[in-house]
Amino acid sequence: MDTKLVTETDQVLREIAEPWDFTVDGDPSTLIKNMAKVMIENNGIGLAAPQVGVKKRIFIMGNETKLYACINPEITEGSGEVMDLEGCLSSPNLWLNVKRHETIKVKYYNALGQEIITEFNGIMARVYQHERDHLDGVCFDTRVGKLSLEMAKKRRKKKLRKSLY
Ligand SMILES: [Zn+2]
Repeated sequence: MDTKLVTETDQVLREIAEPWDFTVDGDPSTLIKNMAKVMIENNGIGLAAPQVGVKKRIFIMGNETKLYACINPEITEGSGEVMDLEGCLSSPNLWLNVKRHETIKVKYYNALGQEIITEFNGIMARVYQHERDHLDGVCFDTRVGKLSLEMAKKRRKKKLRKSLY
């Protein structure tokens, strides 16, 4: 199956993904490799399985040299709040100011099925929270106020119009 981004309006982006069961679903490394290809081709720093039409609780984040694969990821604790601009590969050219925890404690399984308990902060904490949301069918546009979303969409339209010339 070809791994590619679903469109912004695809229902899979609004649905709750199912846990990855290593004994039933097997080795996730092919999926992860295909997702990494899509993420890197699109200059992303995070990608969740539903974004490529796979309704499973898997996301990746990072880059070619340091890639995290987070399976059945949880956030066990969050602290601090920070507002910053966020984009999403499922919503091209839409940039929103989203409030996230600055530091998070997390638990997930890696591609080998090993349980990882660790902490992220800064940009990686932001990406983790954004991608983790995707697994619950939550897109970043529901994390901002209606007015700021409308304004961001107007800005996007203007930008798209400009790029036509
Ligand atoms: Zn996203």
